[in-house]
Amino acid sequence: AQRRAFRDSVHASQEPTTPPQRRPRPEPTEPRAGEPFRNAADTDPAVAESRAWAAELLVRDVPAPDAVRITTVQDVDDAVARAEAVRERWATTAPADRARVLRRAALHLEHARGDLVATMVQEAGKTVAEADPEVSEAVDFARYYADRAEELADGAVPGAVFRPRGVTVVTPPWNFPVAIPVGSVLAALAAGSPVLVKPAPPTPRCVQVAMAAVQRAMDELDVPRDVLQVVLSPEGDVGRRLVTHPSVARVLLTGSIETAELFASWRADLEVLAETSGKNAIVVTPSADVDLAVADVVRSAFGHAGQKCSAASLLILVGSAGTSDRLRRQLADAVTSLRVGPATDLATTVGPLTEPASGKLLHALTTLDAGERWLVQPRRLDDEGRLWTPGVKHGVAPGSAFHTTEVFGPVLGVLRVATLDEAIEVQNAVAFGLTGGLHSLDEDEIATWLDRVEVGNAYVNRHITGAIVQRQPFGGWKASVVGPGAKAGGPHYVAQLGDWADAPDVP
Ligand code: GLU
Repeated sequence: AQRRAFRDSVHASQEPTTPPQRRPRPEPTEPRAGEPFRNAADTDPAVAESRAWAAELLVRDVPAPDAVRITTVQDVDDAVARAEAVRERWATTAPADRARVLRRAALHLEHARGDLVATMVQEAGKTVAEADPEVSEAVDFARYYADRAEELADGAVPGAVFRPRGVTVVTPPWNFPVAIPVGSVLAALAAGSPVLVKPAPPTPRCVQVAMAAVQRAMDELDVPRDVLQVVLSPEGDVGRRLVTHPSVARVLLTGSIETAELFASWRADLEVLAETSGKNAIVVTPSADVDLAVADVVRSAFGHAGQKCSAASLLILVGSAGTSDRLRRQLADAVTSLRVGPATDLATTVGPLTEPASGKLLHALTTLDAGERWLVQPRRLDDEGRLWTPGVKHGVAPGSAFHTTEVFGPVLGVLRVATLDEAIEVQNAVAFGLTGGLHSLDEDEIATWLDRVEVGNAYVNRHITGAIVQRQPFGGWKASVVGPGAKAGGPHYVAQLGDWADAPDVP
């Protein structure tokens, strides 16, 4: 009976709110003789109609689940006190029982896939092609960290015992508004810590819908609600109190280096584990498969409009790759073929920016610095400044602002160098070390590059975004990471979130 109740509750959550009504299909029009050829996908009204229909399903109204609304410093103190009150109980819950919660959360996240995709499309401007794998990543985190939780049981590691750390605050980013909060929150829960998660201001509903799936699992397994609180709080004093509260043992941050520095300036002894910014390059040598390289560069640079800390921002062309007309033409063709528009249009491959372009990004989209010229010049398509056709600039100078600073948007800068050694030097000459790529079919080049590139995630003959739980754990090096730096989705991420002590001697 319990199983049936569970199944029914799962199915109830999947009822679509109001099934959209199919509109009559427009009559297809016959092409006239002598008209220039056009691909059906671009012109057939029936195709547009089918897309609009699918998009209606996608933007179904997913209600925002409950969250704790915090408006005053006192509200923060109350929320932290509630977490503190369940800390001991959760810390002493057997790791195997914590793992059960995560496994059940995986199930509910999978059942909520449609709601999660719809919410990401609406609220985060992610295309379906970007949003759907993000749900899979969240499910992977839940299952993988459940297995890691089991490894924390007494006796699992000979001679050592794991002790949970305490109340943890999670501050996820808006660019992966489902996978990253789910990964960080579930890792902390797996490690026996109660969690307060504060969504990034642009994407609260994504986090609320995802956490509702986790909370449903907790409810079914009688875990007190206060073990996981979603807190909607303004920035400023209230946000600062949340991060600096004396009972908060640790903050898990994914965000810009500036935010990590701000947190550190607020409380010197605050323990922050952070994955921060990147300035990532793909190197292409003359031996590369040009078709593959161009496809991977375009995907890495312009997926989610370049708003990924893993995105390719630089393309470093070695020797004759830098003078190849074919490569240049293919790159320009591929970039100008991208379709920019609202994420709710299923034909869109590059959606809107989350915030209108400003600062460094606006500069990069609109201005050429010394030596730079456009291979593909970006264009603004809306009044607000959120829709931009992607741009590629040639002639980026080593040491220039574009070479070394993160811009977080749809611009790629191309540098030309004479040798692979020089390419590696240029790639490493940035403060960050998050992702990097090499396109080469030469084994010696690959070995040299892998040996010397200073990035957390080094990819060969592959796009450089889209790490995969367990197979390609994700994490940075140099200024891209704060803390011990075990990779998310890797074997040590959960184990680093507590303290290991010598096991008491067993007679
Ligand atoms: N994990 C993501 C990837 O591999 C990047 C995360 C981020 O941009 O914050 O593309």
